[in-house]
Amino acid sequence: MRPRHVEAHRIEHAGWLRAAVLGANDGLISTASLLLGVSAAGGDARALLVAGGAGLVAGAFSMAAGEYVSVSSQADAEAADLARERRELADDPAAELRELAMLQQARGLPTALALQVAQALTAHDALDAHARDELGITAQARARPLQAALASAAAFASGAALPLLVCVAVPEAQLRVLLPLGSFALLVSLGALAAQLGGAPRLRAALRMGLWGGLAMAGTWAAGALFGAAG
Ligand SMILES: [Zn+2]
Repeated sequence: MRPRHVEAHRIEHAGWLRAAVLGANDGLISTASLLLGVSAAGGDARALLVAGGAGLVAGAFSMAAGEYVSVSSQADAEAADLARERRELADDPAAELRELAMLQQARGLPTALALQVAQALTAHDALDAHARDELGITAQARARPLQAALASAAAFASGAALPLLVCVAVPEAQLRVLLPLGSFALLVSLGALAAQLGGAPRLRAALRMGLWGGLAMAGTWAAGALFGAAG
C-alpha cells in the first residue's frame, strides 16, 4: 500500500492543469474570433449564437478526437514497452536484475546496496520496478486516452462558452464594442490565471496571451469584414 503523500507539489498538477488551460485558451480564442468575424460580416445576435454554438461543439469534438488519438498512440507505445519488458524478465531474469542494480547505482547507491535494493524490488514487483526505473512509466502517469479526451473537450467548451456568455449578456446594440473588449479581458485574465496556477510571472503571461489572442481576433474580424463587404 503506497503511503499517502502529505504536501502537494505544484508539479503533480502541472500536467493536466496546463492541458486544461491550453484547451480553455483554444476555446476562448477560436470562438471569440469566430464571433467577431460573423459580427464584422454583419451577423445579428442570433447568427452569432448559432455560429458560436456550432463552433463550441465542433471545437470540443475535434479537441477530444485529437487528444484521444495522440494519447492512444502513447498508451500503445507504453503497452508495447511493458510487454517487451515482461518478456525480457521471463527470458533472462539474471540480466534484468543486473540492469536494475546498475540503475540503482546510477542513482547513487553503492554496489552492494544497489544489488540488495534491486533484489528487494524484484521480489516485490519486478515489472513495476523496471517500468518505473528503466522506462519511466508509473501507474499515476499512465496514458489514459478517454480521460484526456474528455478533459480536453471540457476545457475547450468552458473556454468557448465565455464569449458566448458575453453575447447572451450584452444588448445587441453594444455587441460590436463589448464582445471584442470582453473577449480580450477574458483572454488576459486566463493568461494571468494560467501563470498564477503554474507559479510563473502573471504579467508577462497575460500580455503574451493578450497579444496572440488579440491578433487572432483582429485577423478574423478583418476577414469577416471583407466577406461582409464582398457579400
Ligand atoms: Zn529491464
